[in-house]
Amino acid sequence: MPMIIDGKAIAEKVKAQCRESIAALKSRGITPGLAVVIIGDDPASHAYVRSKVRTCEELGLHSLKIQKPSETSQEQLLEIIAELNADEAIDGILVQSPPPPHIDEGAVVRAIDPAKDVDGFHPLNVAKLAMDDDSGFVPCTPFGCQRLLIEHGIETSGARVVVLGRSMIVGKPMALLMMRNGIGGNATVTVAHSRTRDLASVTREADILIAAIGKPHLVTADHVKDGATVIDVGINRVVDSTTKSGYRLVGDVDFDAVAPKCSAITPVPGGVGPMTIAMLMANTIKSSQLRHRATS
Ligand code: NAD
Repeated sequence: MPMIIDGKAIAEKVKAQCRESIAALKSRGITPGLAVVIIGDDPASHAYVRSKVRTCEELGLHSLKIQKPSETSQEQLLEIIAELNADEAIDGILVQSPPPPHIDEGAVVRAIDPAKDVDGFHPLNVAKLAMDDDSGFVPCTPFGCQRLLIEHGIETSGARVVVLGRSMIVGKPMALLMMRNGIGGNATVTVAHSRTRDLASVTREADILIAAIGKPHLVTADHVKDGATVIDVGINRVVDSTTKSGYRLVGDVDFDAVAPKCSAITPVPGGVGPMTIAMLMANTIKSSQLRHRATS
């Protein structure tokens, strides 16, 4: 049987390290602060925001939730961001995705002070990631996936890594992280996507396969070589009449079929998911440390 990569346990470890850093900052009279802006009433987005705020409270971070109706204009949202950029108590700003369709998400990301862009989506932080400049912020989900590999001692140096998906949130930064020169990097990376021909022949090359597609169970046993490590980023709702809610969450990987072939695999839920919030907390603390070093 493969090793099941326990994202919950590793997220707890990251949070324990966050607690130590927060205590050190608090001893200097500094409390790191995260502002989360949510526009509209998408239930899944509200659930994500609730868990981000809850984790801030759990760790003793200052959190500010700004909730606005779907009709909020682009100008109003940009004004909120300008205020948060100027707010000394706030180290991290994130606008929960997806915003309503009339909002230009790219313009919103560019309006956030890159020093407070703890999601790592601002062009300056994307460039820093590509340039191996550690002063920037790495997007939380791929950062969490890399941490899972490091914590489990899974060798990435020289490994063939296939990243499935090329989004700015997961696929692209994931590929950049894996090819970086450093711990948890130095891999030979292939990025596959919706236009990739004969996907299974590409993914079967992978020592480490990272799936971030958003298609339930697209990755089957046929896509995976024996002994591979599989990281499943996907979170997909599928109908399940046996559950109280009428649905359940599954990944992009058909876990039951793929797990027997793997050396290690993440479950969904309980794999990558808990890491994303933990890395958001870590990024917020890093922002606070950098900002207070800059001003002290
Ligand atoms: P996205 O829709 O922005 O990108 C999906 C990518 O998959 C695209 O690059 C596309 O080219 C590729 N793709 C689509 N169909 C494909 C196919 N048939 N074959 C190969 N590639 C295909 O999605 P995203 O934001 O990157 O998210 C991907 C998944 O990860 C979703 O299920 C999302 O819910 C999940 N997610 C989870 C977390 C977490 O914290 N665990 C965070 C972010 C995203």
